[in-house]
Amino acid sequence: MVQVTCYRGVGQIGGNQFMLEDGDARLLLDFGTPFSERGRFYEEYLNPRPAFGLLDPLTMGLLPPLRGLYRTDMEQGLPDLWERSKDSPWYRDLRDAPVHGVLLSHAHLDHSGYISFLRGDIPVLASALTAFAAKAIQDSGRTDFESEVVYAVPREAKGSGLIASGDYRKVPAEQRPFQVFGAERLTDESHAFWEATPGARRLEPRSLVGPGNAGGLEVRCYPVDHSIPGACAFAIRTSAGWVAYTGDLRLHGAQGHMTRRSLQELRSLKPVLLLCEGTRADLEREGQPNPTEQDVQERARQELRSAQGLVIADFGPRNVERLLTFAAIAHEAGRALVVLAKDAYLLKAAHLADPAIPSAMDIPDLLVYAEPRLQLDRWERAIREEYGARMVGPAQVQAHQDSYVLCFSFYDLDQLPTIRPRPGSLYLYSSHEAFSEELQLDFRRLRAWLDHFGMRHVGLPLEELGWTARPEEQGLHASGHADPKGLAEVVQEIAPQVLVPVHTDKERGIAYFRQRVLEPGVRIIVPSYGGPIRV
Ligand SMILES: [Zn+2]
Repeated sequence: MVQVTCYRGVGQIGGNQFMLEDGDARLLLDFGTPFSERGRFYEEYLNPRPAFGLLDPLTMGLLPPLRGLYRTDMEQGLPDLWERSKDSPWYRDLRDAPVHGVLLSHAHLDHSGYISFLRGDIPVLASALTAFAAKAIQDSGRTDFESEVVYAVPREAKGSGLIASGDYRKVPAEQRPFQVFGAERLTDESHAFWEATPGARRLEPRSLVGPGNAGGLEVRCYPVDHSIPGACAFAIRTSAGWVAYTGDLRLHGAQGHMTRRSLQELRSLKPVLLLCEGTRADLEREGQPNPTEQDVQERARQELRSAQGLVIADFGPRNVERLLTFAAIAHEAGRALVVLAKDAYLLKAAHLADPAIPSAMDIPDLLVYAEPRLQLDRWERAIREEYGARMVGPAQVQAHQDSYVLCFSFYDLDQLPTIRPRPGSLYLYSSHEAFSEELQLDFRRLRAWLDHFGMRHVGLPLEELGWTARPEEQGLHASGHADPKGLAEVVQEIAPQVLVPVHTDKERGIAYFRQRVLEPGVRIIVPSYGGPIRV
């Protein structure tokens, strides 16, 4: 029997944690951090406690209660952990029912983050670009127990809790087994990058290999366009027919043709079931403008032409495509694009996975911001050595403000007292909307910073306009997700027998699919947490 069970990622955007079972074969489809659920309980200064391993994420419902699925080093010192979970209607004992792989659609943390808690012997299947992006994000990010996607530091019991194991010089971090689509194209340099960490703790490396036998099920990977390189959809050949999963995708990006080709290929499989994302599924938003990357380029180009003083471009992290767009238009406007060290690191990783993506060195006038710091992490030190003369510090930016476009976002505003942008400098906002209360608070703070330095802004969601940008300033951001019309097209194109809407709003998203997917023969099943869907 084939069944799909959805945990997080149903009735909410992000946090996808799905399990596909066919007889004894078991695969997870993404295993993300469920940010909306997590945000109900936690915030910046209130977090799951690393010293208690699985206790907090399991008790708070951030991980499904599936015994045997998780790292055993995170269960130490918690003898009644599973006794407590047994009362849950969703409790299952998988100790004799192993999971054979995680299909990771892309490296955004709401799809990848909670791989951190999975057993270290479960292979992760992904595109090479997704694997390398995930590694770059971990290498250059904060070290904490919720972000051990590519390699994990073993924990040991000490006193009343868990700590990172022993002497960091002796106990290595353990790399997860990744199986990547496109492994045959990787160079020696790519493998060397994969098998080392920039951190002080040594890595017990596991070489990258091609996709193996995922519990005996054939898995195919189809590249799609999204706001991070490497995103793909998957199809799995089960005993009941093909099951397809979109991951996150769009049709209106520069790589929309890639998505369309993948949709056609998925159609030819005649899938029995499709798990389809519905981030922007909303009847009320139908007919709203849907700017493309090309529109963003045009609009941003106009703004740069007339800009005076410093320009700060805020397009959110990890959006390599947008970065390349801004590099091109900054160059045309006679300005150098200055990216953060972590962006340069991600670009480097992406280039190593796919030489079609230029490395930072190949982009004319691309500079890297040398943030003044007392102590540099090792990865950052390596970037500074590599980029040498291409590093630029705040003093230089301050002295030649008309020469730069600085890629900062909200969390980099602390640099402004050193840089002191000239009044009339421009903050160009090219990222998502203010879709949550926390984000709205951040936007209020962002505006206070800009007012304080007398900076102009375009594209910013404004409180007085109901958190939308001024009409004449729209079109500076293209979403990573298909618009309502695009989603209907995705379903029509793939034409599955059963559609399961995921990664979508509980009411508006489902209502959209119900109203708009009128294809004869497509049945919609609305998933619920932990309720198996039988194929
Ligand atoms: Zn995403």
